[in-house]
Amino acid sequence: MCFRIFFVRVGDQQTVSIITCNPFPTFYFLPLQKEIVVTQQPSYAKESFDLSFELFPPKTAESEAMLWQTVDELMGFEPTLITCTYGAGGSTQTKTLEVLDGVLSRYPSVAVASHLTCVGRTKDQLREYLQEAQQRGVTSIVALRGDPPQGETTFNPVANGLHYAVELVALIKEEFPEFRILVAGYPETHQEAVSPEEDLKHLKEKCNAGGDTIVTQLFYDNSDFFRFRDRCSSIGITKPIIPGLMPVTNFKQIKRIATLCKARLPNSFTQALEKAGDDADAQFEAGVDYASKQAEELLSDGVPGMHLYVLNKSPAAIRVLEQVGMTRP
Ligand code: FAD
Repeated sequence: MCFRIFFVRVGDQQTVSIITCNPFPTFYFLPLQKEIVVTQQPSYAKESFDLSFELFPPKTAESEAMLWQTVDELMGFEPTLITCTYGAGGSTQTKTLEVLDGVLSRYPSVAVASHLTCVGRTKDQLREYLQEAQQRGVTSIVALRGDPPQGETTFNPVANGLHYAVELVALIKEEFPEFRILVAGYPETHQEAVSPEEDLKHLKEKCNAGGDTIVTQLFYDNSDFFRFRDRCSSIGITKPIIPGLMPVTNFKQIKRIATLCKARLPNSFTQALEKAGDDADAQFEAGVDYASKQAEELLSDGVPGMHLYVLNKSPAAIRVLEQVGMTRP
């Protein structure tokens, strides 16, 4: 007697039908509670390569439409992780999980990560958020402290809140051990750090507390990344370090980047953009060209992954990925 098992979808309900085909075919329909979906998690192993894209919650119906178009276009590159920011630049915090829900309902097998900051939340509120994230199928958290409010230079936690990202990492590890935890690293040193050495020491504390992977702040000079990685290794940080890249495609962005995260833009790059003058297409090309060279060098160095800050738009990311030889199947 031979058995064949078919998974059949009827309307919204998935059924399993077992057919015994010898001697007589028999059909059994067994309703399943839940669709079985195998989620691919990024491994960031030396021998593999994991691509991730960072989205942010859209504010208008128009920008939401662009977000989903972007996701559809980028999914062809088979990312293993999609992340969504939380409260960045004053954006709404509640929409993060809705965006990730949307990604999961379109692409159930991709792993999704919610960024989460300590800004304005008590420990109990952070726990509630983590619980909800887990229920919605989020498997990773980018655990962050967050920035001080605009105009302030120091971060002050709310009563019963957390002061540093390391405390959030420890809380997740202790109470939600199923989550994979990503933490932020700064190749050019965090703006508030007392010194590069202290900053790195605190990064190591985040890894020791449970951080699985380090995703870097965007940078435009690969030598900053390589030096950072060497310095991490010299103090015993062994977690994978994933470079964060954001193609700059116009002058306006440069100003924003310089103010927000103080990333240094090498002269060769600003000169290439200046040469493009007011021509928006030429500025775009200069930005894509620069980011592609950056990505190419990182890839040939054997980085275990790459995190693209795509800003909910796909054209620059697509061009960069194609230029480095990644194709959409
Ligand atoms: P921490 O690791 O806590 O470090 C903050 C500062 O405190 C550093 O200067 C560090 O050296 C110092 N420090 C750390 N621990 C200690 C200690 N125990 N004692 C004394 N000093 C200490 N922001 C958002 O609002 N939303 C987002 O979604 C978001 N996503 C991001 C994603 C990535 C990949 C990155 C790189 C940044 C992101 N940010 C986001 C920005 C981030 O919130 C800011 O850079 C913030 O200022 C620092 O967060 P952190 O998690 O690195 O903080």
